[in-house]
Amino acid sequence: AIKTVDDNYFGSYSSFGIHREMLGDKVRTDAYRDALLGNPGLLSGAAVLDVGCGTGILSLFAAKAGASRVVAVDGSAKMASVATQVAKNNSLLYDENVKAEQKRGGQVISVVHTKAEELNQKIQVPQNGFDVLVSEWMGYCLLYESMLSSVLYARDHFLKPGGAILPDTATILGAGFGKGGTSLPFWENVYGFDMSCIGKEVTSTSARFPVVDVVASQDIVTETSVLHSFDLATMKESEMDFTASFELRLSESVTVVPGVTWCYGIVLWFDTGFTDRFCKEKPVVLSTSPFSTPTHWSQTIFTFEEPIAMVREESTLGSSALVGTDEFPATMLKSRISIVRASEHRSIDISVETTAF
Ligand code: SAH
Repeated sequence: AIKTVDDNYFGSYSSFGIHREMLGDKVRTDAYRDALLGNPGLLSGAAVLDVGCGTGILSLFAAKAGASRVVAVDGSAKMASVATQVAKNNSLLYDENVKAEQKRGGQVISVVHTKAEELNQKIQVPQNGFDVLVSEWMGYCLLYESMLSSVLYARDHFLKPGGAILPDTATILGAGFGKGGTSLPFWENVYGFDMSCIGKEVTSTSARFPVVDVVASQDIVTETSVLHSFDLATMKESEMDFTASFELRLSESVTVVPGVTWCYGIVLWFDTGFTDRFCKEKPVVLSTSPFSTPTHWSQTIFTFEEPIAMVREESTLGSSALVGTDEFPATMLKSRISIVRASEHRSIDISVETTAF
């Protein structure tokens, strides 16, 4: 049989390893649990749509939170059948054969095997739309392999006007990192041998291709900058392609270091918010920042071809070609990042250009 791109994409979600990783990511799963269970005013009696249910965890939380109806959809046949079994085994599956008076609380989940975009071809969606749409759609660097466009489609077609979308904000942030954020120190001393030539090759490749890895907070050398904020309740799909310009200055905490501070590249991450717009009782932030507990998203690292020397205070002005060297350290970095969806399905092209001033 010929496998289409969608077959491969949904196929990749059918292995349990990736679901184990997501469920075991406590920062991630706690955030969704807290948002769903901490806001009974929003959830109780609500009709909830779970876009991309996987194992069904978000639907299980929603059912526990008192939703009157939960529709869980997944494009993977395997995950749809697994989610059905899990909901059933936890007495949370909707069963039309059980008479209303015999129903126990929480038996409200229906699982539908479909792409979210085709939901109305499979079931009768509530006439005025769902009250709440919940989804965990975020990819590396927020948008890589992301299913955001499917979530926005579901929002526009199946959520009631003014309905709640969880999470409702997403922000991409960035900062500069020092040598410790690269693999250079590792290669400089491998069991006492100098393998720095490998380190140099590795970092020069990562100038063109971002690397997904954790950067420790102590390796961040600049202030944090917000690159882009999405309002998920109102944004259009076209906003997924954007160019942002941002400035980075050395952070206060590195002034104690005498001489210049070398910035080796830029690390990006994202936060999503379950804000008090919808989560009035308990707003929640899911952060993938280097300053918080690491998640399975880690951070996304862009290494410069050459490190840039920086100082806090304005120094002797050099010609622009020299700014960022030991002699003429920079006081500021200006970066332009553009993220555009690649014509190839579900992937994105990211480019970062940085100039030292
Ligand atoms: N909600 C689960 C799983 C998140 S992973 C959890 O939080 O643990 C995303 C899931 O969405 C995968 O199971 C994938 O198969 C599904 N998915 C991705 N795009 C989809 C689409 N357009 N329609 C339906 N399901 C989709």
